[in-house]
Amino acid sequence: MLGAVDPQAATTQALVEAMGSAAVLLDAQGVAQALSPAMRALIPALATGQLLTLVMRDPDLIEAIDGVARQGGRQVIELVERVPVERTFRIHIAALGTDVRRPVLLTFEDLSEQRVTERMRVDFVANASHELRTPLASLLGFVETLQGPARNDAGARDRFLAIMREQGLRMARLVDDLLSLSRIELRAHLAPETPVDLTGISREIVDSLTLMAREREVTLTLRAPAEPVNVPGDRDELLRLMENLVENAIKYGKSGGEVVIEVVDGPLEVSVGVRDDGPGIAPEHLPRLTERFYRVDTAASREAGGTGLGLAIVKHIVLRHRGRLTIESALGQGATFRAVLPRFGAAPRKP
Ligand code: ADP
Repeated sequence: MLGAVDPQAATTQALVEAMGSAAVLLDAQGVAQALSPAMRALIPALATGQLLTLVMRDPDLIEAIDGVARQGGRQVIELVERVPVERTFRIHIAALGTDVRRPVLLTFEDLSEQRVTERMRVDFVANASHELRTPLASLLGFVETLQGPARNDAGARDRFLAIMREQGLRMARLVDDLLSLSRIELRAHLAPETPVDLTGISREIVDSLTLMAREREVTLTLRAPAEPVNVPGDRDELLRLMENLVENAIKYGKSGGEVVIEVVDGPLEVSVGVRDDGPGIAPEHLPRLTERFYRVDTAASREAGGTGLGLAIVKHIVLRHRGRLTIESALGQGATFRAVLPRFGAAPRKP
């Protein structure tokens, strides 16, 4: 080992260990001499005294390290690891010193999150455009028909105008939801602080959705403690959260069934759950339900006037409120969506 005997080597080791980014120092033989804490976190299998190439066997990486060790200078390579999960690294390889075979310093940038974000952004734009294009194409089609073949057909005109209005409303809902989502995301780092009573919010939503529930012969039941259940919250966002959950329970639950909204008080956390007795959701869909535009049954969602953004909005509201969303469901057993939020006045959770 370099450390004990050579003071300069000891300094180099200390330097690497003090680095904020992920870095590993290899001796001329490719054995790890020092690792920064970020490097230990990134590749837990790597330890000092070990050959790096035993842990990271990528041929391009091995060749690049060998080249730099023999010829000096530096190289940058990108490496995609597929197991156990896909990760992308940019690795800077730099020679230290001028010996025949040189020690080498590797610094790692983890690009995985950036790549996932890039992919999500591309997918999102494609999905949003697709969602808008469908009603737009239908609108334009009807305009052309009204200008042409159906110009003098009063009956067709009324029917087409009604459909055009539906399509226009659908586009408006989509744009509203997209705007809500981006507004909530913009304020994600600003946790709300004003006390808001979850029972009051739930009651308002029950009142405003009674008519919709009646149309599907669904009974709305609110169970809540007599005392207010306050969370540090943004009133409008919490109304939106409850509206989306109760609306979904009415839309996707059983016609003629019951939707129970339950507010539960607790010392540190409080929760509000929405339970329906409908067909439920198969387990494979549960993890993806809060993704933008993810639907179990696209046609049923469109039919019900859904944009596919409701649960994505719910998730972002819960996150901004420093809470969590749980979804419990099994096929044929209904579904329960629950937002668990910090209680107003309870000490903030340690990050
Ligand atoms: P949408 O606009 O389609 O309602 P959401 O994001 O609110 O979008 O919901 C996504 C999908 O989750 C819905 O299309 C539906 O398939 C499913 N879903 C949501 N709530 C329920 C529920 N209570 N029961 C069964 N499925 C549900």
